[in-house]
Amino acid sequence: MASGVDSDVFEQLVATVERFARERLIPAERQVEEEDDIPEEIVAEMKEMGLFGLSTPEEYGGIGLSVPQEARLIETLCYASLTFRSLIGTNVGIGSQGIVMDGTPEQKEQWLPGVASGDVVASFALTEPDNGSDAGGIRTSAKRDGGDFVINGTKRYITNAVRAGVFTVFARTDADKPGADGVSAFIVPADTPGITVAKPDRKLGQKGTKTSDVIFENVRVPESAIIGGPKNLHKGFRTAMKVLDRGRIHVGAMAVGQSQRMLDIATDYALERKQFGKPIGEHQLVQGLIADCQAELHAARALVRASADTFDREGKAIIEASCTKYFCTEAAGRIADRALQIHGGAGYMAEYDIERLYRDIRLLRIYEGTSQIQQLVIARRTLAQRAA
Ligand SMILES: Cc1cc2nc3c(=O)[nH]c(=O)nc-3n(C[C@H](O)[C@H](O)[C@H](O)COP(=O)(O)OP(=O)(O)OC[C@H]3O[C@@H](n4cnc5c(N)ncnc54)[C@H](O)[C@@H]3O)c2cc1C
Repeated sequence: MASGVDSDVFEQLVATVERFARERLIPAERQVEEEDDIPEEIVAEMKEMGLFGLSTPEEYGGIGLSVPQEARLIETLCYASLTFRSLIGTNVGIGSQGIVMDGTPEQKEQWLPGVASGDVVASFALTEPDNGSDAGGIRTSAKRDGGDFVINGTKRYITNAVRAGVFTVFARTDADKPGADGVSAFIVPADTPGITVAKPDRKLGQKGTKTSDVIFENVRVPESAIIGGPKNLHKGFRTAMKVLDRGRIHVGAMAVGQSQRMLDIATDYALERKQFGKPIGEHQLVQGLIADCQAELHAARALVRASADTFDREGKAIIEASCTKYFCTEAAGRIADRALQIHGGAGYMAEYDIERLYRDIRLLRIYEGTSQIQQLVIARRTLAQRAA
């Protein structure tokens, strides 16, 4: 392994997170669903365990996991509801990685210790009402005014915006370039005048996670707020794509953790529930459902580990990361569907966990690049490689 923490320390961390997920988080899932919020004691425990700083380098107070280590830990944490991962997700991934990967030493010094401790929640503000998959087309503008930039626009579905201490905001700094080339990434403290965070959205699943519109009205930032400094003017889209590349492996690992949980629940049910005088797990058609879940879960886990290793070795893994997000999240959708089917009518009822997990997992095929966008990335790169 090229980086990360010592393997003994890491194994201890995995064991701690495994215990935390099973003994603390899973028993709290129903309360979180009903209250649509994570209890503050759990937020405090997650901070205490250092979970907000899993991927922040050690020199800035984080744990500094390598990508393969992060993937395994996230898989372990995501045996519990994805809502808990969402709380730390933007600090571990999309909200902070732009600063980790491309920030200046001063920007890292200023922001990463707070990100690592969880005292500062970092949100990633790319998507807009009219630009989701076509992120290069964003319209939020950042116009130069002396030594400052003035940001105007609306960002949509921004995870953890209500908790955010800082936003990484993508805005168009060159109005003459309509595509990805005219976009810059800015670090914007959430208390900057002109920022309004709207009421959280109502969603299908992952209750307790919060997404909101974030409106920027004449928000003034110095040019030193550009991630990487003024030399990175108009280069923000590259930062966004690097962040999302690593993030795709992370989302694959989330899908694997939840898939294991759903398979375990469905297997337990198949052992207990009797029809036609025997446990339903003894009926071969139910065994077929279990076998398909197990086979896809094994394939998904292997893919996450292989692409995480590639990222660790090569510093990127574009095709593999897209394949991982695409396959693992689609497989998790199929696993959720089979696990619910194994429950029969009970699977449709809110008293059984599978109903909630089925709704929660749906998001993974949509954010951080939909399945169709992953297909485009994979196919275009494959064609380009052969044509080269
Ligand atoms: C709960 C949640 C949390 C989120 N958190 C964040 C966040 O923290 N920060 C952030 O910036 N964004 C966030 N997002 C936004 C998310 O990344 C976008 O929703 C996603 O990228 C899709 O964009 P869209 O919703 O505009 O759909 P659209 O881009 O409008 O896509 C609609 C459909 O068209 C398909 N499609 C689009 N273009 C093509 C094409 N060229 N070829 C084939 N099919 C295509 C898509 O696959 C999809 O099926 C979040 C979204 C959700 C739901």
